[in-house]
Amino acid sequence: MKEKRAERNLLQMVEAHGINRRAFLKYCAATAALFGISKSKFMTSLAHAMETASQKPPVIWLEGQDCAGCTIAFLGLLNPPVSSIILDKISLRYHETAMAAAGHTAEEAFEEAVKAGGYVLVVEGSVPSADDRFCMIGGRPFKKILEEATANAAAIIAVGACATYGGIPAATPSKGIGLNKALPGKAVINLPTCPVHPDHLAGTILYFLANGKAPELDKIGRPVMYYREVIHDNCRRRGHFDAGRFLMDWNDPAQKDWCMLMKGCKGPVTNSDCAVRRWNDGISFCIDCGGVCMGCAEPGFYSEMTPLYTAESETSKRIVALRDAGMFTKKNS
Ligand code: SF4
Repeated sequence: MKEKRAERNLLQMVEAHGINRRAFLKYCAATAALFGISKSKFMTSLAHAMETASQKPPVIWLEGQDCAGCTIAFLGLLNPPVSSIILDKISLRYHETAMAAAGHTAEEAFEEAVKAGGYVLVVEGSVPSADDRFCMIGGRPFKKILEEATANAAAIIAVGACATYGGIPAATPSKGIGLNKALPGKAVINLPTCPVHPDHLAGTILYFLANGKAPELDKIGRPVMYYREVIHDNCRRRGHFDAGRFLMDWNDPAQKDWCMLMKGCKGPVTNSDCAVRRWNDGISFCIDCGGVCMGCAEPGFYSEMTPLYTAESETSKRIVALRDAGMFTKKNS
């Protein structure tokens, strides 16, 4: 009875925002399945979190050595209506790219939010390990700002390849590192890929709101619900891999759908649900657009994955050796 009432209240809130009830229920069912709980239990927790929050859960979003790609990806969520619930229910207190305030006003907003505590800290971009001066904000090292911000955080979420494992800046003179290395001993939820998949971030915040704790993580800190699958296992070119048909000539129309292993695809050693969830509202993903999987969900991205479009990287050589040793079982066998 209590559960039914909570669900009813949640649906009323949803409809008050002009959100399609069926679409929302479908979203809840899918998310609850990912979390491994019943839809009813998930909706009750979410309704409770929304109703009892005396104020919107605050979020601080910091940017270190980044390109703001994760910010762009996440702001793209403003249009799907279901996701607007999340944005409507959180308070983005500090975000250098998205906030209207600048200069001292922005710095004061940051200090106030940190002092109040209890916020979700989202971090985009890596931390320079060679010299603090590679990343200074308002005349202060990013690393120092980051350490201050983690002090009172309720949860720390690293988004994108750079903040998680170093990403492209790891291969630059700044020797960028991810949060796990920059903040040893701190519990960090890692959401790699370049950029972060907006669903992964929205779902992780949603999980935290509903349960007050991080979802189950794998051994490198990624939520199991999003990074359990290997891209290779869900790739539509997999039949060609199993049959030994490898694209060698981009200009030959007969090869256009063949497996891109020999063109540098890292799908066999990359864990992410990209091939199932897809990107841009489920439209497509790298491999279906004719690009290889660059392995951006893995710690070795970018340095161990280059050159990206040949099979000459250390990672590609390893995959080819595994294939030659018969280590990949056929999809339907
Ligand atoms: Fe797909 Fe890449 Fe695996 Fe080929 S190697 S089947 S293109 S994921």
